[in-house]
Amino acid sequence: MQWKVCPLFSGSKGNATLVQAGDTAVLVDAGVSARRLEGALKQQGVEPGQLRAVLVTHEHSDHISGLNIFAERYALKVYANEQTWKAMNGQMNRLTAVQRIVVEPDTDFFIGGLNVETYATPHDSACSQGYGFYAGGRRAAVVTDLGHMPKGLLERLCGCETLVLECNHDEEMLREGPYPAYLKTRILGRNGHLSNAACGNALRVLINRGARQIALAHLSQENNTPLLARQTVDHILAADDILPGRDIRMLTGRQDEAAGILTME
Ligand SMILES: [Zn+2]
Ligand SMILES: [Zn+2]
Repeated sequence: MQWKVCPLFSGSKGNATLVQAGDTAVLVDAGVSARRLEGALKQQGVEPGQLRAVLVTHEHSDHISGLNIFAERYALKVYANEQTWKAMNGQMNRLTAVQRIVVEPDTDFFIGGLNVETYATPHDSACSQGYGFYAGGRRAAVVTDLGHMPKGLLERLCGCETLVLECNHDEEMLREGPYPAYLKTRILGRNGHLSNAACGNALRVLINRGARQIALAHLSQENNTPLLARQTVDHILAADDILPGRDIRMLTGRQDEAAGILTME
């Protein structure tokens, strides 16, 4: 079975990740305009109407800003948990009842041949969740927008070969940067965003437990750079003699274009 995991847009300005296993393709989040989603999907050889679902992590606008129009245009089913649906309520007026599917955190279900599971993530939204995917004996997961990596979630991600994991900010850059104090506290908090170092520490465990392809995701525009994210993560991994490029494949998500494609067979 051919897999393709592709962060089409990744960062604080908008997020959408394509996950395709065999003939089942889904999108995790739709945080850029429908027009941009259409263009990015077509570049990957996927017609938007081919998608089986859009899986929503949470209601923040960088994850849903294109969703209402995009899902209406292609009559796509949209999956989110009950609390996220409530939080999105006023913004999803184009969706019919049939398109609204409720999936609670820490459950699993099938979309076509793809077994999908949900992970509760600690974030300051109504009820954010990440998504895991199983098919043909392979596993992938998309986990962003989490203030820290809970031990239970880390354990659940063990054995996952392909990972899209948040690598949001450099703590020092954030502390010394221009953001107001309340926002700094929010981002650095337990329900904020995952720092480069926290991402590196999680990856160190996960690579030792089977992760082979990683996309660093949801990089902050103001409080991070792709270079800094990689340097921090690489430095942490070096403690276990893990060298990206030699031992694992690593991509860095981009705000405005696809970061590359993680494939499995
Ligand atoms: Zn968020
Ligand atoms: Zn976000």
